[in-house]
Amino acid sequence: MRRISLKLKLTLLYTFFMILVTCAALAILFSLSTREVLSSTQAQLEKRVQDSADNITMRDGELRIDSDFYSVTRDVYLSLYDENLYFLYGRKPYGFDIQPEIEDGQLRTIRDGSREWYVYDMSFRVSEDYTVYIRGVTSVTDAEASFTVTIRFALILLPGMVLVTAFVGYRFTRRTLLPVKKITRTVQEIRADADLSRRIGLTEQKGSGKNRNRDEVYELAETFDEMLDELEEVFQREKQFTSDVSHELRTPVSVILAQCGACLEDETLSPQQREQIMVIEKKAGDMAEMISHLLFLSRADQGRQPLHKEWLNLSELTQMAAEEQQFLADDAGRGLQIHCEIQPDIHAMADETFYIRMLVNLISNAVAYSNEKGNIYVSLSSSGGWVNGAVKDEGIGISEEDLPHIWERFYRADASRTNRAQGSHSGLGLSMVKWIAEAHGGRVSVTSVPGKGSTFTFSMPVGEEENIKNEKDEKNEKF
Ligand code: ADP
Repeated sequence: MRRISLKLKLTLLYTFFMILVTCAALAILFSLSTREVLSSTQAQLEKRVQDSADNITMRDGELRIDSDFYSVTRDVYLSLYDENLYFLYGRKPYGFDIQPEIEDGQLRTIRDGSREWYVYDMSFRVSEDYTVYIRGVTSVTDAEASFTVTIRFALILLPGMVLVTAFVGYRFTRRTLLPVKKITRTVQEIRADADLSRRIGLTEQKGSGKNRNRDEVYELAETFDEMLDELEEVFQREKQFTSDVSHELRTPVSVILAQCGACLEDETLSPQQREQIMVIEKKAGDMAEMISHLLFLSRADQGRQPLHKEWLNLSELTQMAAEEQQFLADDAGRGLQIHCEIQPDIHAMADETFYIRMLVNLISNAVAYSNEKGNIYVSLSSSGGWVNGAVKDEGIGISEEDLPHIWERFYRADASRTNRAQGSHSGLGLSMVKWIAEAHGGRVSVTSVPGKGSTFTFSMPVGEEENIKNEKDEKNEKF
């Protein structure tokens, strides 16, 4: 199911509550107001009937009625009856065609078809021996009608109100949550590019007036930026430290190596002494290699590792690197065989030193993690503007848990399994390989089956110069 965004959730939530509260408020308002209106209608009816008694007098034995009695005031119609319910004078509202019994002093609700009426009768003693009945009639339906119109109006207005609330709410939530979106995007960018210099940057817009109300999200973004500042500083310090230490170590290690070399030239050394010095020389060599890897990576981190790209014959370089590794393996008494499947004359724009470094790392790893008499296959081909290479071995392989981590610095799957016949194994080689491939605009990947072997593949773009070269070649062929 599609994930509902926080924006939508919040909008739905308060739109729902808005409808609920509005409906409840309207219902309460209507019921209270209806009651109020009806009771005031009743009060008016009673008062009008009672006041109308002043309009009736008896003079010279004759009943006299003031003209006010006939007029309709506040929707109350008055009529006069004698004791036998004989209509004497007055008006009845249109549609009130019934003649209910007199009930003195009683306010009643009488339904006549679809209409409802309030009827109030009051006896009035005009003289000693003559009593009349004043009847007041007013329409309940008319009193309610004004309310029905209001209810209808409110019901028509309600969907519009809901839409406006939802729209305004959505815009407001979107604006409020905008910094959260920015935080997420920044974190994603930092993760993708490993670039700690990025910031959310809400603080920078402080002066614009937009962020004057510093809410919790704003505070979060600010704290996040501060944390990134600190993290970047720590990383910078760590990089600087690695770089400084590597530099400092380079000279003493070179001295040790030089001294070992000088010692080994001494013919008077006993075999045991010679062996001991050779061990020191080997370890110092490993250390020198590790320092060179560390320097490489710290320069790369600081953006001080420029590529010197040139139009190279990668086929030749790959062949040379494979042959050199075969030679070293033979020298170390390994019985393995490196097979090359290299398409001839593949050219691309690349940094020669780095390209060789990448291949040497991959092939020397294949040698180191291969069985004594294994086979290693080095291949190189080109298609669609890309150079594709692979180094395949039949060695110990890499477990599924280790596979995602082998590109990390100092990560070593299982040190005890390493064949240390050749070179140092610091866990830095593949970090360098990855950096070199990516610096060339390419990528590296690996597939591996534990116990069966691994295949490292790399690809990188041929680069712009290929077309120029091809055009040149074509021209040369024509002439
Ligand atoms: P190391 O200097 O230890 O070889 P790398 O960075 O070159 O460091 O490799 C990291 C880890 O990946 C190694 O320690 C090893 O466990 C594993 N690895 C690399 N290449 C191979 C391979 N061809 N076969 C098996 N494991 C390998």
